[in-house]
Amino acid sequence: MILPILTYPHPTLRQKAEIVKDVGKEIRKLAENMAETMYNAPGVGLAAPQIGQSLQLIVIDPTGQKAQGLMVLINPKIVAAEGEVEEEEGCLSIPDFYFKIKRYSKVRVKGYDPLKEKTIEIEADGLLARIFQHEIDHLEGTLIIDHLGRVKRELYHRRILKHLKKK
Ligand SMILES: [Zn+2]
Repeated sequence: MILPILTYPHPTLRQKAEIVKDVGKEIRKLAENMAETMYNAPGVGLAAPQIGQSLQLIVIDPTGQKAQGLMVLINPKIVAAEGEVEEEEGCLSIPDFYFKIKRYSKVRVKGYDPLKEKTIEIEADGLLARIFQHEIDHLEGTLIIDHLGRVKRELYHRRILKHLKKK
């Protein structure tokens, strides 16, 4: 099922997402629907707050193509990071806007994988490292515009609202 994606400045996007304590049928179904929603968008990552569920759950696929490289992670955390790289980045909740954002070039992410049914650690670099940082930001209520300086952020805040009103 394709779920509606919340857009800026929806308050759920600003909440700190709750830890998932019980990985049951509902969470698995939610992850499945989130993956379908991500592929449909199309996008390479989606966090549960973006579809209105304030839970620590993300789906990622750097290929953006169904069943190519889907990863589902519950309660993900960055446990190690190094390097720095600046690249253009977008967000399904802020459609049509792209910003150059500095991120770690390499991260190690730990979380529960409901497909493998165990806690895993993933070493990521390149695009995958960027997606992990972007999606884990969502779980903290952080959006890409928060990585801009104050003046730029205020300018884009107004531009985004104006743009989304026209949609
Ligand atoms: Zn996003």
